[in-house]
Amino acid sequence: MLLIECPYCGERPEPEFTYGGQAHLARPRDPAATSDEEWTAFLYRRANTRGVHAERWRHVHGCGRFFNALRDTTSDQFLATYRIGEPPPGAPR
Ligand SMILES: [Zn+2]
Repeated sequence: MLLIECPYCGERPEPEFTYGGQAHLARPRDPAATSDEEWTAFLYRRANTRGVHAERWRHVHGCGRFFNALRDTTSDQFLATYRIGEPPPGAPR
């Protein structure tokens, strides 16, 4: 069984988690001043990465909290998990 490290609870089985989409998406600060193209990109366009991808996950059947993870999409291996608001491991601070 695939185990995922929740940054708050520790290692738990994968069925306790739900995928929450691509991580580190920033909502436009002023939607009224945002062009249709920029708004469409924020709402619908996502990376389709082959390899290491930053993702948002939720420990829905545990603490209920969201967190980010780096997952290799080719092997389904979780390389790191980290709390919302923290930079990805290895990123400049
Ligand atoms: Zn948790």
